[in-house]
Amino acid sequence: MTAPRTFRIAAVPGDGIGPEVVAAGRRVLDALAAETGAFALEWTEFPWGCDHYARTGRMMDADGVRALRGFDAVYFGAVGRPDVPDHISLWGLRLAICQGLDQWANIRPVRFPPGVTGPLRRDDTAELDWVVVRENSEGEYAGLGGRNLAARGPGSEVAVQTSLFTEAGCERIIRFAFELARTRSRPKVTCVTKSNAQQYGMVLWDEVFARVAAQYPDVESDSGLVDAMAARFVLNPEELSVVVASNLHADILSDLGSALTGSLGLAASANLDPERRAPSMFEPVHGSAPDIAGRGTANPLGAIGSAALMLDHLGLAKEAARLDGAVAAATGAGVLPADLGGTATTEEVTAAVIDRL
Ligand code: ATP
Ligand code: MG
Repeated sequence: MTAPRTFRIAAVPGDGIGPEVVAAGRRVLDALAAETGAFALEWTEFPWGCDHYARTGRMMDADGVRALRGFDAVYFGAVGRPDVPDHISLWGLRLAICQGLDQWANIRPVRFPPGVTGPLRRDDTAELDWVVVRENSEGEYAGLGGRNLAARGPGSEVAVQTSLFTEAGCERIIRFAFELARTRSRPKVTCVTKSNAQQYGMVLWDEVFARVAAQYPDVESDSGLVDAMAARFVLNPEELSVVVASNLHADILSDLGSALTGSLGLAASANLDPERRAPSMFEPVHGSAPDIAGRGTANPLGAIGSAALMLDHLGLAKEAARLDGAVAAATGAGVLPADLGGTATTEEVTAAVIDRL
């Protein structure tokens, strides 16, 4: 028998509830490794985030992105603290890693766990299952623009925020969505833009989508405007399988999707470099949630679901499915944290998942 493969994982717990949910995810992963013997994990923790910023003036080490390159994956918590402006903390750490490692595809599955009643209150939510594919390298978050361009005294400031859409950037994420659709029980891709009002980048996106869709005759496709799509998420979610959208639109739609499943605390995500030149990063969709940090009540299931996405990316699909199964068994048995209407603490939810591995 050969020894199980050891994966080197960089843990970046970050701020607020980030360290609490990352610790929970690590415990579950280590338990799964011990239980199955199929893999081993070697963890290295990086204490980056707003405390690091307060001490050093930087959210992460200057050569931090380079330090992460040697790992097989990055397991991330959350970033942000009320006394640090969000754009500083976000750009200084999370976006610095995503963009530095060219993790250009962000996937955010929307799945409805058993035992959880979300605001949709339908009796068929168990059959709903879609995934938001987010362009993660350009678009509205390209960081282009400036302030004070024409300020002539108080009240006259002008700020410009430019979106950047490249044909290559649109094409790779749309193609990624179609490839993903081919692996799903319902091979369908829904394209989201706002091309009626934004006549350059969004129209380019629509054109590239039509061209790529024609190359996948085996995959159903349709498209809609982002405002109408927000309504469709609520009213006709059974029509969805893979939803592909720009950086900003997909960010908003994935929060909507996770809220529909019952709580932001449930949603998992992966920031992928699909070409595998650099490690990909796995993180819950929720943020640092400073209002509940330090209480031991945070829902760890978004982070645990992200750990399953990480296993899948590392080639451990069977182990990922086993982890997802344990989560479903725990919620199905009524072990729910406060944000899902239950009373279980972070610790109790984590233990319940480990018990069911
Ligand atoms: P950030 O600026 O880092 O995004 P935030 O204040 O926007 O932080 P989020 O983490 O985005 O907070 O979440 C919004 C709210 O949802 C939180 O204030 C919290 O009440 C709730 N929430 C989010 N994640 C969880 C979780 N894992 N468990 C329980 N509640 C959560
Ligand atoms: Mg937030």
